Amino acid sequence: MPIRVTRELQLDAGHRIPSHKGACCNVHGHRYRIAVTVEGDLTIEPGHSDEGMVMDFADLKVLMVHHIHEPLDHGFMAWHGDEPLVSFLRGQGFRLVLMDAIPTAENLARWCHDQLVEPIRSVYGGRLRLESVTVWETPNNCAVYTVPK
Ligand SMILES: [Zn+2]
Repeated sequence: MPIRVTRELQLDAGHRIPSHKGACCNVHGHRYRIAVTVEGDLTIEPGHSDEGMVMDFADLKVLMVHHIHEPLDHGFMAWHGDEPLVSFLRGQGFRLVLMDAIPTAENLARWCHDQLVEPIRSVYGGRLRLESVTVWETPNNCAVYTVPK
């Protein structure tokens, strides 16, 4: 009986959508809210620290902090093809996170998935899997990347 558990974190980061028709083409930032959901069976081993859990929330937090919060927080996400922005940020020595896609909420959800999928697989094998990543760019707008089964 698979059960899903979700943990959230928040971080501050800058971005821009270079060809956007509106204000999003400007350099700006958000307080992102990111939720990671994993799915698996409960640990049933008596006396195990994770007995009755899919995954210890504290262990999920450690993975999210290391692979998402640390690289992004107070950094600037830029698509590698956004040449004026990339060269400016590099020239100033600012924290730059180069992305292979325009850093929309949708692409950021996918990026977070890409950061986490192998670390989760290497620790937990087939016992649990990354199910989805949700990125709120504002309190009203979010994108969900659901991992194909
Ligand atoms: Zn934005």
